[in-house]
Amino acid sequence: MSADRTKISWNGWGWAAHKDEVAGDEAAWAWLANEVGMPSLLATPARPLDDTALAPSRLNTSERNQFTRVLGEDRVRDDRFERAFHARGRSYHDLLHLRIGDLTTAPDAVLYPRGTEEVLSVLSFASDNNIAVIPYGGGTSVVGSVTADASGFKAAISLDMSGMDRLIGVDPVSRTAAAEAGIYGPALDKALRAQNVVLGHYPQSFEFSTLGGWIAHRGAGQQSGRYGRANDWLVAAKLATPRGLLTTEDFPGSSAGPRVTDLVLGSEGTFGVVTEARFHIRAAPAESLYTGFLFHDFASGAAAIRQAVQEELPVAMLRLSDAEETRFYRSYGAVGKRRGISGRIADAYLKYRKFGETTAAMVAGFEGDKATVEHAHRRFGEIAKHLGAIAAGKSMGARWYQGRFHGPYLREPMMDRGLGVDTLETATSWSKIDALYAAVKKALEDTIQQTAPRPGARGIVACHISHSYPDGASLYFTYIFPRALDNDVAQWLAIKRAATDAIVAHGGTISHHHGVGEDHLPWMKQEKGDLGVDVLRAIKATLDPKGILNPGKLIPN
Ligand SMILES: Cc1cc2nc3c(=O)[nH]c(=O)nc-3n(C[C@H](O)[C@H](O)[C@H](O)COP(=O)(O)OP(=O)(O)OC[C@H]3O[C@@H](n4cnc5c(N)ncnc54)[C@H](O)[C@@H]3O)c2cc1C
Repeated sequence: MSADRTKISWNGWGWAAHKDEVAGDEAAWAWLANEVGMPSLLATPARPLDDTALAPSRLNTSERNQFTRVLGEDRVRDDRFERAFHARGRSYHDLLHLRIGDLTTAPDAVLYPRGTEEVLSVLSFASDNNIAVIPYGGGTSVVGSVTADASGFKAAISLDMSGMDRLIGVDPVSRTAAAEAGIYGPALDKALRAQNVVLGHYPQSFEFSTLGGWIAHRGAGQQSGRYGRANDWLVAAKLATPRGLLTTEDFPGSSAGPRVTDLVLGSEGTFGVVTEARFHIRAAPAESLYTGFLFHDFASGAAAIRQAVQEELPVAMLRLSDAEETRFYRSYGAVGKRRGISGRIADAYLKYRKFGETTAAMVAGFEGDKATVEHAHRRFGEIAKHLGAIAAGKSMGARWYQGRFHGPYLREPMMDRGLGVDTLETATSWSKIDALYAAVKKALEDTIQQTAPRPGARGIVACHISHSYPDGASLYFTYIFPRALDNDVAQWLAIKRAATDAIVAHGGTISHHHGVGEDHLPWMKQEKGDLGVDVLRAIKATLDPKGILNPGKLIPN
């Protein structure tokens, strides 16, 4: 195994040893309590691993022996840490279960294959013996797509791909590279940069997610404006299935019928296990520039993004916060700090320019060669200025860039204090975006209030646009709320349902980049239609006739 999982939190985000400065900042916690209408915050620590109940593995000796014959003893793991680590993904909902020590979805064993042939052997044996197989990359899913649910099966195993982590090769002439699917983001990036090229896929979960997981969820990195999303960069894949190996087309373009490669994208481990992939690469950018803008409101910021993408301006990222997200970050960062002279001058200038409560902050990122970066930056500045925005400077961009992977570490300190924090995302066309935004925000605010632990308690509901297209954009909501501690899974579900119903009713997709998993399954028929779901079922039945691969995810019964 290449990744030392014992250094990663089994019931939270990221490095287990990570210590966040905010944890001891009592002024910030008091401010937050006031923001959500609570007199004080409660201590709600997570249960330690040693203090959790774990049922014995359901694999019998002969089944376990079969797996050790294929993989070797050290690559078949059923110790407490490994089973707990692989029990769930890393959504707020997952953490609610893990933090109370609910390990009912722990796999019976965790298997670490080293090559495609080993994966095929495991799948063939599991299929013949009614054992569910949950393909596992970094386990950062936030939609319940690695939950090791064995219902209807004799046992469930987690097939952890992190041992398959080689960069297979770079083809500089064709500008493609191939790698094994279990390679983590940083390892892949480092190996590619050593040859002065990049894939450019940097999701916020980059440090802890894998190539296979990015493909299986059809994800989007933060700089999708320049590098595209998984469906833009995937060229071809090897998919190990219980029926054998499916090697998809590997052509720059073809009209030979529907592209089988596309079936792999977003398949969430239900059609097969991606063992290797070939993808487009680009020259490592010579220049990168991240800078800030302030718009008078969310609508004018969104108009600037729309104009830029419709003009085909080469931007890497345009990330626009709504007024609440802008206010939250400014106020939270300022708690307990005295405003210095430069800050007071900036405040006075903003007041003079009539930037008030509706101000919406944007971080704009430009990458590429010097001329491209300069041109895109200058032109975007013109567009923004024309819409009434002012430049807020490179320090704002630099701050965002430096902290671009750190935000998720705030979740556990909040959960330790009786607060919930979750995110959800969607996308829709530009013409529907205002109505969708308003409806989802209202659904979240109302349901948070209805499920709050005391009268007067409320949520902070913030949103940003971070991925955009000529015809529309994604909306990404973050919401912080006081937990109903006696029933917080039901509270989470009520909020999720209300928001997703609002998304569907207003023409949004149930997910722009997080995927379906278990959490979005109830809305899949509305998204795809009955016939669309039948098509997915037929593909699954062909590749996985006994239905052992990641049961209960993606495809409704
Ligand atoms: C804090 C945080 C931030 C995030 N930010 C982003 C973001 O910016 N952009 C984004 O797109 N997503 C984001 N995500 C979601 C998540 O990180 C992505 O979905 C990621 O692609 C999952 O990769 P993984 O390797 O962790 O996959 P896992 O979570 O292990 O698995 C996800 C799904 O893929 C399947 N799978 C994994 N590997 C394989 C394989 N080799 N073959 C077949 N199926 C496989 C699993 O069965 C499962 O269905 C974020 C998640 C968190 C917790």
